[in-house]
Amino acid sequence: MRTVIYPGSFDPLTNGHLDVIQRAVKLFDRVIVAVAQNDSKNPLFNITERVDLVKQAVAHLPQVDADSFDGLLVDYVESRSGQAVVRGLRAISDFEFEFQMALMNRKLNERVETIFMMPKDTYTFLSSRIVKEIARLGGDVSSFVPAHVQAALKGKLSKA
Ligand code: ADP
Repeated sequence: MRTVIYPGSFDPLTNGHLDVIQRAVKLFDRVIVAVAQNDSKNPLFNITERVDLVKQAVAHLPQVDADSFDGLLVDYVESRSGQAVVRGLRAISDFEFEFQMALMNRKLNERVETIFMMPKDTYTFLSSRIVKEIARLGGDVSSFVPAHVQAALKGKLSKA
């Protein structure tokens, strides 16, 4: 059983994240989307909401689970009997940070490999931050996120 962990903030999940998940499903028996608590990032959605939005998005994919984690990623990977971490690479701008993280995680635990997947070209400009900004300004995000995420953004921002 090959298990990969896909960690991130997912604040909220976008079609770019889904693209990476669908690609990872082709390579692994099980994909665990691990939402980081990351309170220092001051997320728009709390941890329960973020996990729930992921759960709804992957409900049709039986090999995919959604979970949350706190603490060191490599410890979480071991606790879920994972072999690897998958991260998305959109552009050169992602590279430096991802390179540093991957090598640091290898230093912390040599058994955990990091693999990178490139999304479909139309998602290379997409980020949760940009989606939140467009939604906040009243723009249409329907082609960037699943319908239930769009509805959640609407609900959240109307209360803000
Ligand atoms: P983090 O705060 O850990 O970067 P994100 O939720 O922003 O969390 O992203 C999680 C992972 O998904 C990262 O590897 C990021 O590069 C990747 N990712 C985010 N948006 C996209 C996208 N549009 N296409 C491909 N990968 C993406």
